Amino acid sequence: MNFVFAGPPGAGKGTQAGLFHARHGLPHICTGDMLREAVRDATGLGERASEYMRRGDLVPDALVDEIVRARLAEPDCGDGFILDGYPRTLEQARVLDASLASAGRRLDAAVLFTIRDDVLLTRLAGRRVCSRCGMTYHVEYRPPRAAGRCDVDGAPLAQRKDDDADTIRHRIGVFRELTGPMVEYYRADRRLLQANAERPIQQIYEEICGFIEAPDPRQPSRARVRPIEVRPAPAV
Ligand code: ADP
Ligand code: AMP
Repeated sequence: MNFVFAGPPGAGKGTQAGLFHARHGLPHICTGDMLREAVRDATGLGERASEYMRRGDLVPDALVDEIVRARLAEPDCGDGFILDGYPRTLEQARVLDASLASAGRRLDAAVLFTIRDDVLLTRLAGRRVCSRCGMTYHVEYRPPRAAGRCDVDGAPLAQRKDDDADTIRHRIGVFRELTGPMVEYYRADRRLLQANAERPIQQIYEEICGFIEAPDPRQPSRARVRPIEVRPAPAV
């Protein structure tokens, strides 16, 4: 089960990847989280990426390609993975395929989360993230049990710096502008699946599960992808 979750910021990719991690044990690889960690730790990567991230622009392909290549080579990814927020450009998608092929592996499918911009704006404006474990909440749609505190570890919840109104609009614009060719790349060889990301969290989860046949969720390596009828995706 080698999957990409693709879609605009705020579509719910991280929320769904978190569920697949918790319920099926699949590693959730989020390039945004890895880059934020690098910025927080002031590593060389963080220094090179921080200005792009602050503006809501994509960081250069070479930086993300390298961190993903290294992460996928780690042993826990041997039975499968979910990539969240990578690839975001055609070039990244090609590099990912080449890098998997050189390890004798293949991406099964890219799940495209489709959602309108006005829904994204509400989701991102209300997003709150645990300052310690990174668990994601929404003030209205997925509130924590105790206001402002993480259900898992009780740490305070925070708003991401790039979740302010102007940067949100810019990030959505960047996605709409740059991601189309990548989507077409996966559509062309029938690896593109679509999930209607405007529905409740559990329904989206069930739709994605429907794409995947997992005979034993504790053994993701035995899972396989069903022959899938690919539905036409709307223009992004
Ligand atoms: P992404 O990883 O695609 O940027 P997130 O998973 O962080 O998106 O979700 C963005 C915000 O929307 C979060 O506050 C999350 O709690 C909320 N959210 C995620 N999925 C849904 C959904 N299906 N319905 C309503 N809110 C959602
Ligand atoms: P995200 O957490 O997915 O919203 O990503 C936050 C920020 O990290 C983005 O606005 C980009 O600056 C950067 N980023 C994350 N993933 C990528 C990627 N695949 N390519 C380029 N930049 C990325």
